[in-house]
Amino acid sequence: MSQLFGTDGIRGIINEELSPMLALKIGLATGTLFGTGARVLIGRDSRAGGEMLSKAVEAGLLATGVKVYDAGLVPTPALQYVVKEDEFDGGVMITASHNPPEYNGIKVIDFDGVELSRDKEAVIEELVFTDKHRMASWASLIHDVKPYPHVLEKYVKAVVSHVDVELIRKKGFRVLIDPANSVGALASPRVAQMLGAKVWTINGDLNPYFPARHPEPTPETLVETARVAKSLGVDLAIAHDADADRAIAMDDQANIQWGDRTAAVLAKYLAEKHLDLPRRVFTAVSSSNLVEEYLKPIGVEVVWLKVGSIGIARALMSKGGICGFEENGGFMYPLHHPVRDGAMTLALLLELMAVEGRKLSEIYGDLPKYYALKTKFRMEKAKAVKAVEAVREYFKKYRQVDIDGVRVVGDDFWLLVRPSGTEPLLRVMIEARSVERARELLREVESIVGGLS
Ligand code: MG
Repeated sequence: MSQLFGTDGIRGIINEELSPMLALKIGLATGTLFGTGARVLIGRDSRAGGEMLSKAVEAGLLATGVKVYDAGLVPTPALQYVVKEDEFDGGVMITASHNPPEYNGIKVIDFDGVELSRDKEAVIEELVFTDKHRMASWASLIHDVKPYPHVLEKYVKAVVSHVDVELIRKKGFRVLIDPANSVGALASPRVAQMLGAKVWTINGDLNPYFPARHPEPTPETLVETARVAKSLGVDLAIAHDADADRAIAMDDQANIQWGDRTAAVLAKYLAEKHLDLPRRVFTAVSSSNLVEEYLKPIGVEVVWLKVGSIGIARALMSKGGICGFEENGGFMYPLHHPVRDGAMTLALLLELMAVEGRKLSEIYGDLPKYYALKTKFRMEKAKAVKAVEAVREYFKKYRQVDIDGVRVVGDDFWLLVRPSGTEPLLRVMIEARSVERARELLREVESIVGGLS
């Protein structure tokens, strides 16, 4: 790995790219950053190698004189919430989020319960590559790792405290939860039960092989979950990724609703519920324009940002707003904690349904209709940058946002062309009012990219 941190923590194939030796170094670097005497909470999801990596990171932290507390198996948002709430100096989560089973990863959390800023990540990277970590003297190595067992309980209680429990309980909703055989199983079914729902769980045993589905919740990986939702006739189904910071919803018709659609209906609801929150939401340029169309008429501004949840969370914290989100199902509710939180998303959706008194499919039915097409071209970064320039020039008479690739917004379409942050790829997303228009735009983009030398 030339660069340690990707867009969201450190990820790699277990024992190939991400070995216990590297984990030890990351522990040493993280301990050096937080400092001798700091209190750090560590947790993990159900992935293979979780305990191995966790112990290696712990050894590194201990060697720098950090006091280590072990939360065990917990969702990432639970660890993040408790880091802030119980005033830890930092946290470490062992997870590769939605990656395939052979991956694991390390995510470092700052004292405020949010992923480290890029600047602090760079400090850790530097320390790992130069081996300039600071070892503590023997006399400060007297602390054992202490179990910290109440993380789940605190988290679940906090999530439920943000919604109208009595109102939701009266509705007796039917809810299906698919936690992707990982730690979402420890929190989300409990949240739904506390809200009076009749709850079914599938893929609920913790299993590092992810035997039922890929841990990334997408329309492709959730086909069978949607089928179960349909046969049970639930009001809402929720599918998480392996560390349960993402939540993808399925409505009462078992339609799989992409994250920006869920964020749009939640943002409108929350804007009406909390009139005191600044009238803006934060999302990445990869989210659909339907968000802007839906929220503008009620006076809520959409702030477009680069792809990556850390920038969204930090912007939401510093500027204030109703929520932040990613189209892939990461939704941040600042009144709880400004990070992606799958169980919080579930609770808010139940409250929205209870307050509106309508079927979820009807609520989503209010959103503008778009037809989506996605494609990617394999190419080196330099060529991908040229392609972005060419697309920008071709669509120059339209409104453009150019903070991450180029986003073009027309009356009946929007599109995004951007180089991938992690792979030699050019990614293209197109949404239009009609299938024909979307296909026409795709042909135009293909001919622009194909015409490059
Ligand atoms: Mg995740």
